[in-house]
Amino acid sequence: MSEPLVIIGNGMAAARLAEELAKRALGRYAIAVIGDEPRLAYNRVLLSSVLAGEATSQEIELKSAAWWRDRGVTVTYGCAAQSVDLAARKVHLANGMDVSFSKLVFATGSTPLRLNVPGADLPGVHTFRDSRDVDQLLALASARARVVVVGGGLLGLEAAYGLAKAGSKVTLLHLMDRLMERQLDAPAAALLKRLVEMKGVEVLLGANTKQILRGGES
Ligand SMILES: Cc1cc2nc3c(=O)[nH]c(=O)nc-3n(C[C@H](O)[C@H](O)[C@H](O)COP(=O)(O)OP(=O)(O)OC[C@H]3O[C@@H](n4cnc5c(N)ncnc54)[C@H](O)[C@@H]3O)c2cc1C
Repeated sequence: MSEPLVIIGNGMAAARLAEELAKRALGRYAIAVIGDEPRLAYNRVLLSSVLAGEATSQEIELKSAAWWRDRGVTVTYGCAAQSVDLAARKVHLANGMDVSFSKLVFATGSTPLRLNVPGADLPGVHTFRDSRDVDQLLALASARARVVVVGGGLLGLEAAYGLAKAGSKVTLLHLMDRLMERQLDAPAAALLKRLVEMKGVEVLLGANTKQILRGGES
């Protein structure tokens, strides 16, 4: 009989693990994947392309629903694992169900850092990490909202570009005196700044965010 193996997290590591187990030990485990995002596992690196309208959510899925089904993997998505009862070897889910395991894998990734400034938790302040963030950002862009992106590293630049392309008026704030200062020297960063501005993004350098104010307070 197959051993019940539960993977918490339905991201890139979970998909790769399921793929390797299917290749190396097909049938040995009855695999259940629990993910809190409301989608099948996808290539997170390509979220920027979804934001920029250059790919659809479906196009960045790592595996189709049929792939998971054909390998006997049970995928529960849109539902967080809330607690683990090690003695009873059960994972308790947000929907009230329990899933039994013989082996348990945490593949829960990471959570984005939020700015440690007053106002960072106000409504309208978003992070850029998962598919739910992208849904919210695209809704802002389609409402032609004015957006400020904090951080001129790779992710900030990708977010700013995607949002501008999707219809927002975007200002990018960066703490340092040049964009991507860890990767670029001053001349290259100046070229990049000009290119980003040509995409319609206003860039403010040496901009240290001290506080985020509710709309209308500034
Ligand atoms: C826009 C963007 C671009 C990136 N570009 C690059 C790049 O170019 N190169 C690079 O190397 N890396 C890049 N990264 C980082 C890369 O995507 C991550 O390192 C990678 O996704 C980590 O994979 P993971 O499976 O460990 O975690 P994740 O992909 O984060 O997956 C973990 C999953 O577990 C879920 N989860 C967490 N807690 C629970 C719970 N209690 N119950 C159920 N589910 C839960 C999460 O919601 C998530 O869906 C990028 C990230 C982003 C956001």
